[in-house]
Amino acid sequence: MEWIKGFLKGFATTLKVLFRKPVTEQYPEYKRPLPARSRAVIILTRDPDGEERCVACYLCSAVCPVSCISMQSAEREDGRRYPRWFRINFARCIYCGLCEEACPTLAIQLTPHFETSQRDVLKLVYEKEDLLVNHGGKNKEYNFYRYAGVTMVGDKGTHINEEEPVDLKSNLP
Ligand code: SF4
Ligand code: SF4
Repeated sequence: MEWIKGFLKGFATTLKVLFRKPVTEQYPEYKRPLPARSRAVIILTRDPDGEERCVACYLCSAVCPVSCISMQSAEREDGRRYPRWFRINFARCIYCGLCEEACPTLAIQLTPHFETSQRDVLKLVYEKEDLLVNHGGKNKEYNFYRYAGVTMVGDKGTHINEEEPVDLKSNLP
């Protein structure tokens, strides 16, 4: 008798959902808005002064588990660093977000934009011109250089939020 019970229960479930309004979303005619923190295409953002945030520190490249970020660092006359070129191979990227976590300047950010499929795989290699945008992304106010300074000015302990240097000898027994 157990099998009849299971059989009827299955049919009851089928009948229950048979006349329910379908919930199929007609993509691509309808595009469901994704949360702002969804992880898809990567951008390089700018600080509030309009300067590119990336200081070519290579941290994102080092942390990337699939080694799909590469760049060449350069330095301006005022000492500010920037990437001469910056490349991401989206054919390899697994959108893990580790590069964004590692970035000290909030330059590299993942966005909800995901429609990038290509027949030609080489078109998934994005250069700096493709990645650099004219806004600050998720945190528009942050400006790394306002805290770090481009070059060392003033004495140690005089920068914003910087503590007085510790006298190492004071730690001796
Ligand atoms: S999201 Fe992950 S895989 Fe993609 S570039 Fe960043 S660290 Fe690499
Ligand atoms: S994007 Fe961020 S982590 Fe990557 S090199 Fe530029 S500053 Fe460093």
